[in-house]
Amino acid sequence: MRLSEATWTDAADLDTDLAVLPVGSTEQHGPHAPLGTDFLNAESIAEAGADAFDGDVVVAPTIPVGIAEEHRAFDGTLWVSPDTFRAYVRETIESLAFHGFDRVVVVNGHGGNVEALAEVCRRLSRTGDAYAVAFTWFDAVGEHSKDMGHAGPLETALLRHTHPELVREDRIDEARDGAAARWGEWVSGVNLAHDSDEFTDNGVVGDPADGDAARGEELASLAADALASLLDAVEARGRE
Ligand SMILES: [Zn+2]
Repeated sequence: MRLSEATWTDAADLDTDLAVLPVGSTEQHGPHAPLGTDFLNAESIAEAGADAFDGDVVVAPTIPVGIAEEHRAFDGTLWVSPDTFRAYVRETIESLAFHGFDRVVVVNGHGGNVEALAEVCRRLSRTGDAYAVAFTWFDAVGEHSKDMGHAGPLETALLRHTHPELVREDRIDEARDGAAARWGEWVSGVNLAHDSDEFTDNGVVGDPADGDAARGEELASLAADALASLLDAVEARGRE
């Protein structure tokens, strides 16, 4: 059940303690993909995973701005501080838990949020306010995960499957020409670059041509199945 479309009476009637909370970012995704890529993708996977799950789960509204200052050189990128982000996610989960939805899977679409989400989920679980874990969709797509870049094959393919009208296909050559092969500028295991414009001219990492809509459909199905299995485990945890 999508919380945004339910009434309060629907929410009151719902007999589940499970919720998914999509979290993304509004940030540059090269010249070809929309600024909303990370939250659109998190939302599609959260909904597909909730559909694939055999049981009731609340789909909370998507949090669209995350930790993305590393993309500040590119126009339209928005960000909040890690402190603000952690507090906002924590309090959103606390309000879900207040209504009894106290087993929460955060469905994340942005690499920059990973560390903060893990911290928030640990803290909530240790204090007993809720049991929460964070799921990042592009880490749950098997062999494909190694091709994750930024606005590269995976994210672009998923958008081609879910929101084809938002991918500027006439700019793919340009996106590929200005792209970096890998994220960061590494020396002795240290990334010397704090911001993405230090290693990519147009914001892209990887080849956005390397993933058609069929690959996007496969990614969506792999991630949705992984999320449904995770929901099974989170629902059963501690009840055996
Ligand atoms: Zn992204």
